[in-house]
Amino acid sequence: MPDLRRTKIIATLGPATNSPQMIEQLVAAGVNIFRLNMSHANHEQVRSDVTHIRAASEKLSRVVGILMDTQGPAIRTGERDADLKLQPGQVIALTVRGQHSEEFTSVDVNYDDLVNDISVGNVVVVDNGNIKLKVLKKKHNQLECEVLTEGTLGSRKHINLPGVRVNLPALTDKDIADIELGIELGVDYFAMSFVRAAEDVQRLRAILDYRKAPQKIVAKLEDQSGVRNVDGIIDVADGIMIARGDLGIEVPFEELPPLQRRLVKRCVVRGKPVIVATHMLESMINSPSPTRAEVTDVANAVFEQADAIMLSGETSVGKYPLECVAVMDRIARRIERSGGAEYARLAKPADMHARIVHQAADMAADVNADAMVVFTRTGRMAHHAAWTRLQGPMIYVFTNNALLLNQLTLPWGIQPILLNFTDDPNQTVHEAGHVLLSRQLIAPGSRILFVTEATIQGKRVDTVQIETIG
Ligand code: PEP
Repeated sequence: MPDLRRTKIIATLGPATNSPQMIEQLVAAGVNIFRLNMSHANHEQVRSDVTHIRAASEKLSRVVGILMDTQGPAIRTGERDADLKLQPGQVIALTVRGQHSEEFTSVDVNYDDLVNDISVGNVVVVDNGNIKLKVLKKKHNQLECEVLTEGTLGSRKHINLPGVRVNLPALTDKDIADIELGIELGVDYFAMSFVRAAEDVQRLRAILDYRKAPQKIVAKLEDQSGVRNVDGIIDVADGIMIARGDLGIEVPFEELPPLQRRLVKRCVVRGKPVIVATHMLESMINSPSPTRAEVTDVANAVFEQADAIMLSGETSVGKYPLECVAVMDRIARRIERSGGAEYARLAKPADMHARIVHQAADMAADVNADAMVVFTRTGRMAHHAAWTRLQGPMIYVFTNNALLLNQLTLPWGIQPILLNFTDDPNQTVHEAGHVLLSRQLIAPGSRILFVTEATIQGKRVDTVQIETIG
């Protein structure tokens, strides 16, 4: 019977992979979710990507999700005619609102409140950590900064302001236009960049609710405010992404491993899907095999039982996208065989349905069942099932909701299957068993634990049944 991987793989599409053939090969290699990165993709490309992903999913009969990742309120340097070489000790001016320094070389920044929000002594990080500038003096519409590290500054370079409370809107006009497109195309998830507080997520939720749009929201934690407010963000988001690219700049890098562990643990204990992202197999952008350190990094996230691990540049611009997916797949299967951190043992679900599913998972392991099966119309039981981090038996989730199906590609361990539900729960259970047998997901004689509904004295109640199928 198939040994299905429980940790989900997310692959970012880009010039290296957005052909129909490549998308199909990535699905066949085991990608569960494709990420469309709106910092780079244009609308025409997104339309074509969505069409090709849905076609590949249909052709290969694989359930595949689509995650549209918003650019968010990015701070960037302006256009430059020529690259600027910087030497330690040199002083330059960062300017806003078109200001120019009379004394120093000016570098334009697109964030008008830069001078208000920052303090003398703060460090400005440019180009993903390649250039560091220390603020010496604040003036009208300009900051005088000392260059701390040698580097070359080009146009439109990303700026981080570690530890600074940035006063930017949660969603830019571009984000809203991209989200409109995502709704129109029926993507499954929106990843929201630079979520700093629960209210940011609620802002997007209000847009989706107003549009009656079914998409789920993944909040990207990428700065210190987001980390500080993580509990409130977990309350309102449908999932969390640990965006280590920006986070590794916003916090000292030695803080990143304990922070990742704390965030994954917090999400797993609270039953919220969590994605570990960025630089997982970075060297494979140019090399067909991973470094030992990368293997260990992927293994660590799988051991922590994150719901998903993500590929960015590795699949969007890298030379070996299929190899990257194969490497993640191999590592995940191996580590899953030897067990994980089991943070879910610390979960204390208040919801009665969740408690029943947790008890049922213990029972499934106890009786050595081959699989645990749950049924869901809203996704709730599916999330409870993933929350258990059940080792051993596979978890199959049946839903009659085609929109929900693709959203069940993210939670850990669950294998989503579409099925028409009948009014008679016993009949639905019977049909689910038949589907598992006919797809050879279980062998005749398998012991299956079903968490289902029954009508007792006119009331619908959750029940647990153990059956031998076939
Ligand atoms: C990150 O910073 O790790 C990340 C995933 O965000 P982006 O790639 O959009 O900057």
